Amino acid sequence: MTELKAPHRLYLHEGEMPTQWYNLRADMKELPDPMLLPNGQVATEEDIYPVFCKKLAHQEMDNETRFVDIPDEVLDIYKVYRPSPLCRAYDLEKTLGTPAKIYYKFEGNNTSGSHKLNSAVAQAYYAKDEGLKGITTETGAGQWGTALAEAAQYFGIDLIVYMVKVSYEQKPFRKAVMETFDARVIASPSDTTNVGRAILAEDPDNSGSLGTAISEAVEVAVTTEGYRYVLGSVLNQVLLHQSIIGLETELAFQKLGEYPDIVIGCAGGGSNLGGLVAPFMRDKIQGKTNPRVIAVEPASCPSLTRGRYAYDFCDTGKTTPLAKMYTLGAGFKPSANHAGGLRYHGMSPILSKLYHDGYMEAVSCEQTKVFEAAKLFAQRETILPAPESAHAIRCAIDEALKCKETGEAKTILFGLTGTGYFDLMAYTQYNDGAMTDYIPTDEDLAKSLDELPVVPGIE
Ligand SMILES: *Cc1c(COP(=O)(O)O)cnc(C)c1O
Repeated sequence: MTELKAPHRLYLHEGEMPTQWYNLRADMKELPDPMLLPNGQVATEEDIYPVFCKKLAHQEMDNETRFVDIPDEVLDIYKVYRPSPLCRAYDLEKTLGTPAKIYYKFEGNNTSGSHKLNSAVAQAYYAKDEGLKGITTETGAGQWGTALAEAAQYFGIDLIVYMVKVSYEQKPFRKAVMETFDARVIASPSDTTNVGRAILAEDPDNSGSLGTAISEAVEVAVTTEGYRYVLGSVLNQVLLHQSIIGLETELAFQKLGEYPDIVIGCAGGGSNLGGLVAPFMRDKIQGKTNPRVIAVEPASCPSLTRGRYAYDFCDTGKTTPLAKMYTLGAGFKPSANHAGGLRYHGMSPILSKLYHDGYMEAVSCEQTKVFEAAKLFAQRETILPAPESAHAIRCAIDEALKCKETGEAKTILFGLTGTGYFDLMAYTQYNDGAMTDYIPTDEDLAKSLDELPVVPGIE
C-alpha cells in the first residue's frame, strides 16, 4: 500500500466510528485468572450483582463475546466528542532529530479532559437502563469523577463521588466541575461510612487513597436502595469500553497505510492502554504482527515493575472480590510528594496476564523526568498534557531517541490520555524546581505486600 503523508491531526468521519466494542479476552490464548470471593470460590456474575449493574456484571465475566454492540444511546454521546484525532508529532520529531515517526491518539477533548468519559458514558447508561436511582464511585485526581458526573447528569441519575482527600484539598476546581454536573462530592476518608469512620478513628489526618475511596463508595452502593457502584479503570468491562480508542486508531492507521512498531501507554489501572492496544495485541497474539507494547508507570507506584502477581483486594477496606493482578498490596499508599497521578495499587487483570505471559513490557519513570517530557511536548504540540499521559510521552521520547542512535525509522504510537489543566499545582512545582522524586525502597513495598490476602486453595 502506498503511504499517504499523515496530516498533523487525522479525524475519522462520524460515520466511520466503530459501533461495537472489542473484547480482547475472546482472542487471548490463556485467560486472566477468574475473580474470587474471599473464601476462595470463583465469583459468578450473580455474586457481583449487589455491587454492579447486571449488564456490566455480564461484561465483566464475559470471556467469549468478541464484539459487543455499543448501545445507540451511548453512540449518541460518543458522537459529540468522538472520533478522537490520531495526531502525528512532526514538530516533536524534528526537535528530537529522530527518524522515528511519532503518533499519538488524543483523548482529552471533552470536559473531563481524559479518555475516562468513554467508559463513564457506558456505565451510566447501563445504570439508567436498569432503572437505578443512582451510582457511587471514587475519584483520585478527579478525571473519573468528572467524566462520570457528566455521564450521570446526561442520563438523569444521581451520583455520589468519594474523592481522595489530598486531591479534594489540592484540586478544588475539579470539585467545581463535578458539582456543575450536579454530583455530590465527599472527601475520603469521611464520616459517612463505616469504613471511613474506622480509618479516621485510627488516623484522623489520613489523606486518603483510591483504595479507601473505593471501599466507601462500595459500602454506600450496597447499603442504599437503587444504587450501584461503578469503577473507572482496572475492570474488564472498562477495558472493553476503552477499546473504542484502539479500534479508531487501527482504522486511522489503515487509512495511512501504517502500523505501529511500538505501542506505548501510561498505566494506572490499565484501562487506556488496554483499550488502545486491544486490536494490535490481537494481531500479536495471532502471530500476524509483532509490535512491542510498553506500559509506563510512575517509579513511586510501580505495580507492574515491582509488584507481585497475586490475588488481592481491589480496595483498602478489603470489601471487593479478589482479582489476580500485579499489585503493591491494597494497603499501599504512594508517597505524599507524588503529583503525577497513576496512584492505584493494582493493575488490570487482563494486562497483568499479558505482561506475565510476556506479551508486554513495563518501565517506570521518575516524575521529574515525566514533567520534563510534558514540558517539551506542550511547547511543540500545543497541548498541555495530563501528568499521567506524560509518562507515555516520556517513554515515546526515549524510544525515539534510541531510533536516532540506531537510525531506525520506527513507527511509535502512544496514548495521549488527557489534558493537564487541573494539574497546574504540579506544573508549578516542576517549573519552580520544587518537584522531587521518591522511589519506595523494597522495605517500603514489603509493608503492604506482606499483607496480601491468603486465599483458601491458592498458594
Ligand atoms: C485515569 C487516567 C489515567 C490512568 O488510568 P488507566 O486506567 O491506567 O488508563 C491516565 N491518564 C489520564 C488522563 C487519566 O485521567
